[in-house]
Amino acid sequence: MSIVTRRLAAIKPSPTLSLMTKAKELKAAGKDVIGLGAGEPDFDTPNHIKLAAKKAIDNGETKYTPVDGTPVLKQAIIGKFKRDNGLSYEPDNIIVGTGGKQVLYNAFMTTLDEGDEVIIPAPYWVSYPDMVALAGGTSVFVSCPKEAGFKMTPDQLEAAITPKTKWLVFNSPSNPTGAAYSREEVKALAQVLLAHPHVYVISDDIYEHLVYDGFEFSTMAEVEPRLFDRILTANGVSKAYAMTGWRIGYAAGPKDIVKAMKTIQGQSTSNACSIAQAAAVEALNGSHDFLVPRNNEFKKRRDYVVARMNDIDGLSCTVPEGAFYVFVCCDGVIGKKTADGNVIAGDADFVAYLLDAVGVAAVQGSAFGLEPYFRISYATSMDNLEKACDRIAKACADLC
Ligand code: PMP
Ligand code: GLU
Repeated sequence: MSIVTRRLAAIKPSPTLSLMTKAKELKAAGKDVIGLGAGEPDFDTPNHIKLAAKKAIDNGETKYTPVDGTPVLKQAIIGKFKRDNGLSYEPDNIIVGTGGKQVLYNAFMTTLDEGDEVIIPAPYWVSYPDMVALAGGTSVFVSCPKEAGFKMTPDQLEAAITPKTKWLVFNSPSNPTGAAYSREEVKALAQVLLAHPHVYVISDDIYEHLVYDGFEFSTMAEVEPRLFDRILTANGVSKAYAMTGWRIGYAAGPKDIVKAMKTIQGQSTSNACSIAQAAAVEALNGSHDFLVPRNNEFKKRRDYVVARMNDIDGLSCTVPEGAFYVFVCCDGVIGKKTADGNVIAGDADFVAYLLDAVGVAAVQGSAFGLEPYFRISYATSMDNLEKACDRIAKACADLC
């Protein structure tokens, strides 16, 4: 008999974090591996943000803060929502946590009873279903194929709603596809929700600032003000500000939900790191000038990877609107054989083959709920991407 709970039997380690760790271990062991698994920018945290953290240490900002965030960070978050999204919040609508991940986890833990349903468009970020399962909820997946731009239609949303639905998890731009919903598309989904007052929305906006080709980001609470009281908008500094290690995420939403999240956080981890909170204030209030050149670089890499993948026999992909991922369909290599005679039976086999044969680490689509695909993170240097694409092309050509 294991001491571990039955609930945990359904939970697996995060496949994205596992792959990042594995690629790092192989590299440390001297293997020539190019990691395309990382869900974090390769850029450094901007200097003015680092300086703010150093100043916070020198000022003695090294003690517990209020559980839900320092007043100054909450004001910076309120300012961010007003400036970027046209949304008005009060401090009691805001909670700061140890990464967007903790904020989302706390949201599910505080709102899901056994059997409550959460609608998750697939492909999805790996952690949503496991968080829902840990909280005792049931994930209801809505399959969003490449032909639909990996986006959920209003009809699909309507069909997925039941009396047990508690949340829709809405992530745009998306991890793992980079697909982002236009204002009209957000509006059309919101219209469906207006008719179902028991359904709440978690809008995971963590990739908000990473959009290309003039795409305009919209968030549901602003697009449909009649849903404002039913939306928890989650965000964080990890992606846009290249601050994954600092662990600051936040959410804004109904006061009763935020209060419950604060209670659970107060009984588990307390406040997010005081120094990282001070850095996040500077991230949100300080200069955003670094974003444009970084996004230009991301766009260049995206276009390169998309072109190279579409040139390879057996692989294909669309052009994502945002984030730093390309989700590549690999149905043309499924069923083929490696030089050792092993059959590539699915996308997990294909990514294992890429790692083994040519030293490229990527994540299989099945981890995100759509097969046969693999996710490339282009948050790495152009040099690495060129080499990795050459290697993937060779690996595919070697299959028969
Ligand atoms: N949401 C999505 C869609 C993500 O890709 C991530 C990245 N891990 C997160 C939330 C959480 O990020 P963090 O905990 O670093 O804020
Ligand atoms: N969100 C990133 C990813 O999908 C980081 C790893 C994780 O937290 O899952 O790769």
